[in-house]
Amino acid sequence: MREAEPHLKDFSIERLRTRFAADGIEPWRAEQVAGWLYARGVEDPAQWTDVSAALRDRFANAWQRRALEWDAVSVSADGTVKGRLRARDGALIESVMIPEGERNTLCISTQVGCPLACSFCATGALGFTRNLGVAEILDQVCRMREKLAPEQRLTNVVFMGMGEPLLNLPNVIEAVRVLLHPKAFALGPRKITVSTAGVVPKIATLLQSVPVNLAVSLHAPTDAVRDVLVPINRRFPLAVLFEALRALPEVSVRRPIFFEYTLMQGVNDSLDDARRLVRLVRGLPSKLNLIPMNAHADAPYRPPHEADVARFAAVLVGAGLTVTVRRPRGADIDAACGQLAARGARPAA
Ligand code: SF4
Repeated sequence: MREAEPHLKDFSIERLRTRFAADGIEPWRAEQVAGWLYARGVEDPAQWTDVSAALRDRFANAWQRRALEWDAVSVSADGTVKGRLRARDGALIESVMIPEGERNTLCISTQVGCPLACSFCATGALGFTRNLGVAEILDQVCRMREKLAPEQRLTNVVFMGMGEPLLNLPNVIEAVRVLLHPKAFALGPRKITVSTAGVVPKIATLLQSVPVNLAVSLHAPTDAVRDVLVPINRRFPLAVLFEALRALPEVSVRRPIFFEYTLMQGVNDSLDDARRLVRLVRGLPSKLNLIPMNAHADAPYRPPHEADVARFAAVLVGAGLTVTVRRPRGADIDAACGQLAARGARPAA
């Protein structure tokens, strides 16, 4: 297959209709194709039984339909599955499926590496190679769904893997549209969360374009510490970030902002830090996810003491905030937050 051929998964259904019309294909075929590719997960046009033979040949010969292949897979003792997937140019991308009761949450990547270089993050230590295309974002969902048991279904997608989603915003928005479309993945808007380290100028565009949850990787309540942990804070410091967040009309009690806060021993886990955090988010509809740091080779930080995590959380709860302490998932296979670095998994079966 030549690279110049267009990729069916590079288009939202709306844009595929326009493209089909320009190519002399009935626009409603876009929904039909989405049904096969995404709802049924069938990529071979030979099996698209309600499509004419001539059109099946055309899709088989003139369009690409698969962007990622399996490179490796690891399964954690807690059931978390990490997939390492290979793009056409050889780039390796990681995605993580996290089963939790009825819920199966898939964490997907948006870039190869990441330019933001957060100092506690294994992806940041890789540097940045390139943005992922829409098809490469969506194919993570297609491939990882293959690892679910027949009785399981994908319920949630979080854009929290490798890369900063808002630095690849047009492709993220296009992919979200496919995740939401009733003929494609048919996920509900509250089931999709897009995370940012704080690319302030792009946040409003995201929420105006697609009805997703917003997560902000906060990790520190002062500029002095956040400048080190999340260096984009030097461009968009906390005052600028929170002024922008408070101005978002989409944010409400029913649609709060999720703040991610990775606790690191002696860095950002003191009671004073907890009180500063309370002052920072006061009055802003929000939910706080506390994530005890996972140890990994590239980070100079250590996991917090359990007692400190409990005390930190108690301050937030005492101030009336909604707080979750996230259990580390998949830490034994380097699939937990901040550990994705596309290395060290066994080859896929
Ligand atoms: S934490 Fe996110 S934004 Fe920061 S370097 Fe890692 S992948 Fe990039």
